[in-house]
Amino acid sequence: MPNGYVALTFDDGPTPATLPALLDRLRAAGARATFFNQGKHSEANPGLVRAQQRAGMWIGNHTDTHPHLPEIGDAAFQEILGTQQTLHRITGERPSLFRPPYGETSDQVRADEARLDLLEVLWTVDSRDWAGATTDDIVAAARTLQPGMGSQVTPVGRGADPPPELAGRVPCSGVPGGRRSGTRSCG
Ligand SMILES: [Zn+2]
Repeated sequence: MPNGYVALTFDDGPTPATLPALLDRLRAAGARATFFNQGKHSEANPGLVRAQQRAGMWIGNHTDTHPHLPEIGDAAFQEILGTQQTLHRITGERPSLFRPPYGETSDQVRADEARLDLLEVLWTVDSRDWAGATTDDIVAAARTLQPGMGSQVTPVGRGADPPPELAGRVPCSGVPGGRRSGTRSCG
């Protein structure tokens, strides 16, 4: 990722209680985020996956059931493949991005990703919303991003989708030169 960009990512959904408001906020902010969806949640809420797609968001693979991939042997491939198939069926497109649950990867997991042409995406700043962080905590964490950090990815929404007010509050000021979320200019 070029300097001056921040990728916003939201994991573990889609979640009916919060996704519509979140999409509204992202759209209002002109921000394009990546949603790392779980297969089982996508199966349960295909309309929400399509809403992500309609809103212009990127859709990535986050396994079917959120296991510790390095600990489950050959079942890891099925976790990833099944989610590819689910998301392809719902969106008509095969995701190209993959985030291993808990950021736990291994040579085997990377080989599985390669078989499916998936790029592994981890993160630089953890919002810790899944650990009960408040919106102010999350914004403060996002402000720790520095220019030159390279790939800067904020996984908000692990365990639960993030507060919708976040989308308008991730600071552009922390990213001089100023862009965030891939395509959105802060200027
Ligand atoms: Zn997750």
